[in-house]
Amino acid sequence: MKGAVGAKTWRLEPETEFRLEVDFDQKVTVTLLEGLAEIFGTELALGVPYVFSGRKIAVFTWQGYGTPSVDYVAEETPMTSYLNTHVALDQMRQAAAMQGGNGPRVLLLGPPDVGKTTLAKILLSYAIRQQHQPLYVNLDPTEGSITMPRSLSATSLTHMLDVEEEFGSSATTAASLGSSIIPISYFYGHASPADNTKLYKILTSNLASAVRGKMAQDADARSSGIVIDGPGLVDSVGYEIIAHTMKEFEVNVVIVLGHERLFSDMVKNHSQQSDISVIKLSKSGGVVERDSEYREKLESREIHDYFYGTSRFELSPYSLLVNFDDLAIYQIGQSNMAPSSALPIGMDRHITETQITKIEPSYSLSHSILGLSNAERDEEAHLVSSNLAGFVYVSAVDEIKRKVTILSPAPGRLPKKYLIMGSFKWLEP
Ligand code: ADP
Repeated sequence: MKGAVGAKTWRLEPETEFRLEVDFDQKVTVTLLEGLAEIFGTELALGVPYVFSGRKIAVFTWQGYGTPSVDYVAEETPMTSYLNTHVALDQMRQAAAMQGGNGPRVLLLGPPDVGKTTLAKILLSYAIRQQHQPLYVNLDPTEGSITMPRSLSATSLTHMLDVEEEFGSSATTAASLGSSIIPISYFYGHASPADNTKLYKILTSNLASAVRGKMAQDADARSSGIVIDGPGLVDSVGYEIIAHTMKEFEVNVVIVLGHERLFSDMVKNHSQQSDISVIKLSKSGGVVERDSEYREKLESREIHDYFYGTSRFELSPYSLLVNFDDLAIYQIGQSNMAPSSALPIGMDRHITETQITKIEPSYSLSHSILGLSNAERDEEAHLVSSNLAGFVYVSAVDEIKRKVTILSPAPGRLPKKYLIMGSFKWLEP
């Protein structure tokens, strides 16, 4: 393989990767000149310039070409073990297709920055390349992946993932692929599952039930199975959430990356269940730790792309002026509460964790991201379990005229009556 980066041309040997870190204020173009290469499982087209900004990526080749340049080219990659995992999952999918059963339900676990999302992308891309239609479930509220950060989502993937985007925001991906990708998303509203564990678990159960519905109707989705990008919590709340997720999604393959103790605990916890495989895979040397500044920039870009699209698929959001009296905004539970596990034994957090509170519009709404709920009435259980039609952004609040300016992907008036607020603000750059 030959690739041109800026003014340079690189040659890669088989099973090596070229690693690239591009800042948010930089742009790097990568063009494949010869051979075959992929980025996190998605193949590059020959001669097409791909532009990257604010990304940490690896261009990998199975075949290789010529002599490698030593700088930046990594020869030690865990890609063979990732490919072997895919081959084993593929056999499960083929068996499921023949028997009309369920394909693998894979859960990726490990602390933050071990390559869970990257491995999810690789496994999903390889499955799509073999004509499967896997479901991707994102349970990491710090990553927007397919929708907005702070949400939990499930998406049916039928087309190859975009090389240039992280996972592709729902709006841009939908614009580029028609309606083939429809995420089901719930607004959790907080960064950590520990912020409101009860709500997190309810939303996970709702997603699992939506996924079961999809798998019951669609034979291809059923045999293709699901890949779940788990949250990066490995403490007691994390273990409670892992057990809940495994039960709800009937997980039968657990992959642990970069955490010995978590792996041995998972092996121990499931040693009696012969139908559950627990696998340990190495963290790639290329995985980069993202500091809080990088994460903030990433989150800000994900939100920006949700409303404005990317340079290839630009979107024009609408600015709506809405009266205070026409807004029905609810908060579910309270933000920054101690997790249930921190409460004295016997004390039930049920009521406050899912209690809905109507928010009176005021300046404090400014810069909030709000979820547009599909709920039809503001009864607590119904509102908590309703999924989202999309998101809006409060760009300005005028307390004197009692009006808010809302940025919305849809024109006219607010497409849904009930709005959900989390502890989530965005300063539009
Ligand atoms: P996690 O989901 O466990 O938090 P990610 O998969 O998001 O971790 O990886 C963290 C960062 O490292 C991401 O920016 C990702 O693009 C980058 N990364 C992962 N694997 C590689 C690699 N082989 N080479 C370069 N960057 C990588």
